[in-house]
Amino acid sequence: MGKATGFIDYKRIKEPERDAKKRTEDWLEYRLPMPEKDLTTQAARCMDCGVPFCSVGMEIKNGVSGCPLHNLIPEWNDAVYRGDFFEALQLLLKTNNFPEFTGRICPAPCEGSCTVSISEPAVGIKSIEYAIIEHAFKEGWIKPNPPEKRTGKRVAVIGSGPAGLACADQLNQAGHSVTVFEKSDRIGGLLMYGIPTMKLEKAQVNRRVHLMKQEGIEFKTNCDVGNDISLTELKRDFDALVLATGASKPRDVGLPGRDAKGIYFAVPYLTEATISQLEENGGSVLSAKDKNVIIIGGGDTGADCVATALRQGAKSIRQLSISSEPQKERTTKNPWPEYPRVLKNDYAHEEAKAIYGKDPREYLLSTTAFVKNEDGRLIGIETVQVKEDLAKQQYQEVPGTEQFYEADMVLIAVGFMGATEDIFENFNVNKTKRHTIEAAKGFYRTSEAGIFACGDARHGQSLVVTAIAEGREAAREVDFYLMGETFLP
Ligand code: FAD
Repeated sequence: MGKATGFIDYKRIKEPERDAKKRTEDWLEYRLPMPEKDLTTQAARCMDCGVPFCSVGMEIKNGVSGCPLHNLIPEWNDAVYRGDFFEALQLLLKTNNFPEFTGRICPAPCEGSCTVSISEPAVGIKSIEYAIIEHAFKEGWIKPNPPEKRTGKRVAVIGSGPAGLACADQLNQAGHSVTVFEKSDRIGGLLMYGIPTMKLEKAQVNRRVHLMKQEGIEFKTNCDVGNDISLTELKRDFDALVLATGASKPRDVGLPGRDAKGIYFAVPYLTEATISQLEENGGSVLSAKDKNVIIIGGGDTGADCVATALRQGAKSIRQLSISSEPQKERTTKNPWPEYPRVLKNDYAHEEAKAIYGKDPREYLLSTTAFVKNEDGRLIGIETVQVKEDLAKQQYQEVPGTEQFYEADMVLIAVGFMGATEDIFENFNVNKTKRHTIEAAKGFYRTSEAGIFACGDARHGQSLVVTAIAEGREAAREVDFYLMGETFLP
């Protein structure tokens, strides 16, 4: 531990961010690196509590508590406090293949279960992680590191999101020849198309993919496996297959008027926005410019839609949630070290307040119908207020609270319903009740011999950090399957 009294001596410093209004004029990352002088005191706040819940990575009540990668947080905090960034990097890379992603976009379950957070704001773990990896890139410490020997075994990883990339990276390090297949035109899964640029600039994804290519991993884009290549062909050419195909089937809102023109799912909308930044003539069809935009769904995906619509120049933005406004502090039903289910002021909400003067979120509102004009174009939505019946775990409509909201664009961001149907048909794998690929955690084997599954496709929609953890663990099982022993962590 760096400084025994650090958690008493120093206050938590919030991660620096660009000005909330100014940053909506571009698509660059909204976060700024923490100055190194502040990092020392922030790392010193780690009390080396002895039982580091920050790295426990357990699921408690459907939420992640602590880091699923079991990052060696107290150890690298100590190294940063001593100014030894090289040692901090070695510790960080032991458990995390892509700290440049998690250091930017992880909701940091580690901080929610940090022991300091029982009485004070948690240690700023995420900003320290971000600093370690970016310092390393700047110093030129991150270099291609191909394996010394090849095993002669070939593995196909299907899907290039964080789960597929982590799995490919580990298997390549073990000496297997890995090909990553991706049906989209760019590598990265939701890191590329889904998570907006202002949270994660796409150059960061490309930087990592470039390194992986230099290390010998082959990438094939625009290849929809199962449709463009059959399972029989893959089984002929590869010794094992890993399905890391995500859980992209969106939950719909089946209401009258749903066929109105102007209603879109969140991910295709966010994807178009990214394409329009990456390509001169691409992806402008779904722009929110000059529109009254309503986002249905109060979660993080909805927040990303708020920030995107803001940058496109929306006339107005509302984000509607059927749930009640979360409490500002933990309640007794959500004690430490559970993931804190408290009101978050996301980057998008700060920006909306700076531009429109108010928070775009409205709670306890249920949409009852979409309203369209005679041309079939959306003109608004009908809503009613609801109250929570906690005993029945239901929402009840409050009579007389019906309201019409004008809208030219509605974005649906109410979650996901597991993997797409073609995955089960094309790969002949069993599905769970939650419509994900059946494969037990820790084993990752599907019902089909030689086919493994990991990430959201197995787990259901989760976090980048969970996907990386699953990719790593699945790689270990694949290595064991191929070699009869494994040295992967
Ligand atoms: P994905 O990232 O979904 O990747 C799956 C890939 O498989 C896709 O590229 C897909 O095209 C490909 N694929 C599918 N089928 C085939 C096929 N047949 N052949 C070839 N390729 C195929 N998590 C965070 O931690 N922080 C965040 O800030 C955050 N923001 C998010 C924002 C949005 C809008 C969304 C939707 C999710 C967000 N998440 C975030 C969740 C996180 O992105 C996912 O949990 C994570 O990306 C899952 O990784 P994955 O590799 O399992 O799947």
